[in-house]
Amino acid sequence: MNLVELQNVSLAYGRMEVIKNLSLHLAEGEVLGLFGHNGAGKTTTMKMILGLLAPGSGHVQVFGNTPDHTEVRKRLGYLPENVMFYPQLSGQETLTYFARLKGADNHQVGELLEKVGLTHAATRKVKTYSKGMRQRLGLAQALLANPRLLLLDEPTVGLDPVATQELYQLLNELRQNGTGIILCSHVLPGVEPYISRAAILAGGQLQAVGTLSELRRQVALPTRIRLGS
Ligand code: ATP
Repeated sequence: MNLVELQNVSLAYGRMEVIKNLSLHLAEGEVLGLFGHNGAGKTTTMKMILGLLAPGSGHVQVFGNTPDHTEVRKRLGYLPENVMFYPQLSGQETLTYFARLKGADNHQVGELLEKVGLTHAATRKVKTYSKGMRQRLGLAQALLANPRLLLLDEPTVGLDPVATQELYQLLNELRQNGTGIILCSHVLPGVEPYISRAAILAGGQLQAVGTLSELRRQVALPTRIRLGS
């Protein structure tokens, strides 16, 4: 069974159709890169998978259920594009707060801070964190309750090359343990080694989908999303 299945999905904001007849799937342990320019429809697609938006037509299934199913929500981790935290809470307090919301075990807080390399800053207020540290805390938050599916919206924006590679390495470990990952990005360079397949969206339509070697054989890719040789 696929973790995510979108079949002929369309969605409009008012009268503006922003997702047009989109079909996509994600298998267990797969990392799907969802690429496209600003406004291509990447975040909207994520929101449908999260059950925050319902498609006007077509079907969205997560773990074989509708996305609003309670069991689905429990096993889904999400890192939004601009993750926001309470600035006065420490990293540890922040994760403890989210652990309660998600019904996750408290012992996961320390484990996850360790996993994302924030143990040394656990008691510091989040307002003193760098962008990279906030992003890693966001990832820890998304990993609470051991998600089977992880949705990451532009996870490396604002990160330096070292922090970017560290984040991708971490995703690689998760994937090897069977977690399915959808990763939205404007840019492909750097992420290539870590994705199983890529989907290119433009104007809410799927332009191409496949492994990178399959995509390299296709020509109609939007500019700026360059495939390395
Ligand atoms: P970005 O990389 O800039 O986040 P994106 O690929 O994630 O872009 P979406 O955020 O899904 O694209 O937006 C798709 C289209 O829908 C854009 O034209 C956007 O302006 C429009 N849009 C997004 N959210 C809304 C909303 N709540 N109401 C009306 N239009 C919206």
